[in-house]
Amino acid sequence: MNVIEAPSPNFDARTSPPDTIVLHYTGMQTGEAALERLRDPGAKVSAHYVVEEDGRVFRLVPEERRAWHAGVSFWKGVRDINTASVGIEIVNPGHEFGYRPFPDAQIASVIELVADIRTRWTVDDDRIVGHSDIAPDRKEDPGELFPWQRLAQAGHGLWVEPPAAPGAPLGEGEEGAGVFALQAGFTRLGYDCAPSGKFDGHTKSVVTAFQRHWRQEKVDGVADGETRARLIGLLRLGA
Ligand SMILES: [Zn+2]
Repeated sequence: MNVIEAPSPNFDARTSPPDTIVLHYTGMQTGEAALERLRDPGAKVSAHYVVEEDGRVFRLVPEERRAWHAGVSFWKGVRDINTASVGIEIVNPGHEFGYRPFPDAQIASVIELVADIRTRWTVDDDRIVGHSDIAPDRKEDPGELFPWQRLAQAGHGLWVEPPAAPGAPLGEGEEGAGVFALQAGFTRLGYDCAPSGKFDGHTKSVVTAFQRHWRQEKVDGVADGETRARLIGLLRLGA
């Protein structure tokens, strides 16, 4: 694929090959501003790639180097996600500056880029995640408008369409076996959500992150029957 070189000084050495892909949105007014920041030595942030709304792909950091995009994060027991991952920044103003749908040309490039990365590194479908999945208390990106289903239909990442799932919703403040099972399921999928049986503020953040990825019609931090059915469906895929 056609990649525009736009080197950033913000990287260091990898100690192991990446096995995870993290998708972000830039969350800035323009793509130009985001590229400038991700290449600014003083900002100490970067990503391997930036994908513009018109579909142009910029390479900032070589994949064999460790870019600085994840921050404090966790997925499937791993905390140093920068070492474990390739990071892709997708241009979008984000929730702060006017969140809007990702154009088709941009998503087509993201799909092509993810496919290309997976020709080089072993990245399982259950390790293609959003920044909010790995840092649910801090991050909202790439957000509930990102078409994870389309990415999965192209062969990248997990998706499930479960049957209708009745069941009482679980929300903040509740306790018991249902909450414990929910947290255990999130942990098995990859989230940092040690089962306690108490639906606390962190659990609500994890439910919200899960919904942004896999239950985009309802992003409210309340685990309704369909949210739980989708979680169970994903785990049955072998995640
Ligand atoms: Zn991010």
